[in-house]
Amino acid sequence: ATMSIAAILAETAHRQPERPALHFMGHTIPYGALWDQTRAYAGALRERGIGPGDRVAIVIPNVPDFVRVYYAVLSLGAVVVPVHLLFKADEIEYVLRDSGAKLAVVAAPVLEEAAVACARAQVPLTTVLLPEAIAAEKGILRLEAEAAAATPIERYASTSPLDAATVLYTSGTTGAPKGAIGTHLNMIEQVNVALIDTFPMTCDEVVFGGLPLFHIFGQMAVLNVTFRRGGSIILLPKFDAVEAIELMAAYGATVFTAVPTMYIGMLQAAEQTDARPPLNFAVSGGAALPVAVLERFQEVFGAPIHEGYGLTETSPTVSFNYVGRTPRPGTVGQPNWGVDVEIADPENEDAIVLLPHGELGEIVVRGYNLFAGYLGRPDATEATFTDGWFRTGDLGIKDDDDYITIVDRKKDMIVRNGYNVYPNEVEQVLLRHPGVVNAAVFGVAHDTHGQEIHAAVIPHDDAVDAEELIAFVRDRIAAYKFPRVVHLVTELPVGASGKVLKRELVVRFQPAPT
Ligand code: ATP
Repeated sequence: ATMSIAAILAETAHRQPERPALHFMGHTIPYGALWDQTRAYAGALRERGIGPGDRVAIVIPNVPDFVRVYYAVLSLGAVVVPVHLLFKADEIEYVLRDSGAKLAVVAAPVLEEAAVACARAQVPLTTVLLPEAIAAEKGILRLEAEAAAATPIERYASTSPLDAATVLYTSGTTGAPKGAIGTHLNMIEQVNVALIDTFPMTCDEVVFGGLPLFHIFGQMAVLNVTFRRGGSIILLPKFDAVEAIELMAAYGATVFTAVPTMYIGMLQAAEQTDARPPLNFAVSGGAALPVAVLERFQEVFGAPIHEGYGLTETSPTVSFNYVGRTPRPGTVGQPNWGVDVEIADPENEDAIVLLPHGELGEIVVRGYNLFAGYLGRPDATEATFTDGWFRTGDLGIKDDDDYITIVDRKKDMIVRNGYNVYPNEVEQVLLRHPGVVNAAVFGVAHDTHGQEIHAAVIPHDDAVDAEELIAFVRDRIAAYKFPRVVHLVTELPVGASGKVLKRELVVRFQPAPT
């Protein structure tokens, strides 16, 4: 059987060549032109010897060339290895070597680090967006020029559903980053289920693409889902909330898809601009969306946020507050169609012992959305599966209507004096304080308590005081849970995928060794 994710662009371009696919920096690129340039890039890559199964690293921000190179690689039956845009040379080198990349396609703005990495890993490199003069001077190849000299491919290669389409590196809080292999089946199944069930869209939809495309959330929930249906995407290389609101209003954006830190940014930005896009709905995922943020967003932007839950390994959606049903704030909705989601005893490592509704345990998943394993790591792959179930590492509860509440990540749980404290719950309370813009709660090693509960808080203004915040939470939550130390900060460390990096906070605020 053939089943290629490349069909998403190719078939849509065939059906509606004139309709807009991308809006970028004041230009609109129609589907037909986008596919033509993609076929030309694919022709150039084919001449480089790229074919079925070959891994191609791409280091490109959210610009139209990310989209072209992504589908060009997939059109050849080759495998896309997107590289995190904040990675430095060492980290890029690791990905190149670990994935066995045969070629890297690098955008000019991130060329420096990538070029060092490619030289060390001995991976040939080609560029996009590099001015001709600089390329000539440095002797670097330009994919644009290679494509102009090559014969474009006619159609996308047939692949089998179980063939690899992507290798996506998870940042690996537990050891070295691992490359999760996503298949064509994983992706097509997810996209179709999303459009039938979780968030139906029309071909008139204008979607804001603020999420990084190197991450699964942006790739699936923004790029592939929108293109499958034939809507258009507004691309912005570096997310800025004020710019995002204004662009969305200008293009009449109907869908906004983002992670919670972006929603918090949007609420702040709304004080600086009167522009309001005509949003039908918004989608959140990737981290817990505080209920206070969901409510304020609905007030300010007049659109409901539908929160979902997922992981790179589950391609990504596991559950969703389906569009068309009233979202249940504080939950991540119900299981995706065709995906089994259960709660298992987190202490039992050897077997999956399912727990009844209403009990807290580890979320485990089974379904066609499960990845094909970690590249070159059968042991790590085996360790995440038990009895055919994938262990997510997240703690949650499922109620009688199958709505799932994420309690927190197993690894983020704080143990203070033997009591388990879930940072997410404490953050939710902090965010109900009107003077709090954003907050992150984390555990810091402590001599007598084991761990101490700290919070880093971005205050709205100078009037906010740490003691008052501690008292605010203490009044609303059990005594063992409130933060003992509150650090007022001007920003929180956020990764390129928009999630707060708690590990960095722990390092920053842990006491110096005595
Ligand atoms: P990495 O492994 O790269 O460090 P990561 O663990 O965040 O990053 P991802 O696959 O990007 O990997 O994210 C998956 C995780 O994100 C989930 O395991 C869960 O902890 C968290 N997550 C996703 N959606 C939600 C949500 N709606 N609410 C709470 N947590 C969420």
